[in-house]
Amino acid sequence: MNDKSNKPTIEKYKQFIQEGKFRAFKCSDCGAVIAPPLGSCYSCGSSKMEWTEISGKGRLVSFTVIHVAPEEFQDEAPYYIAIIELDEGTRVTARLSGFDPLKPEDVKLGTSMELTFIESPKGRKYLAFKAA
Ligand SMILES: [Zn+2]
Repeated sequence: MNDKSNKPTIEKYKQFIQEGKFRAFKCSDCGAVIAPPLGSCYSCGSSKMEWTEISGKGRLVSFTVIHVAPEEFQDEAPYYIAIIELDEGTRVTARLSGFDPLKPEDVKLGTSMELTFIESPKGRKYLAFKAA
């Protein structure tokens, strides 16, 4: 394995999710954790990235309920799309697990969340978070 093949890519990031793993990029220069992957560090602009493990812990900062989904996700609607701020300081978009999409009033911003995965009827895995 040379440096090039170890270089984090978005394709590999997505592949990890399908394998039930959540890895983020970490800036080799300043240590900022970046997920989903970007070409360069939002903090220092470096393009030197390495993989890092994520604690999977964070808190809910925003959410919305998708009632009318794009065609490929129609079977799954309604569902939540949420923004989670990870303990590592980066924000990710993910599904919510364990909340009734017809009762959004039960979902509270600031709730402590932990990583899980959900699988669609077609067998596709998504990052998801549930109440910790
Ligand atoms: Zn950086």
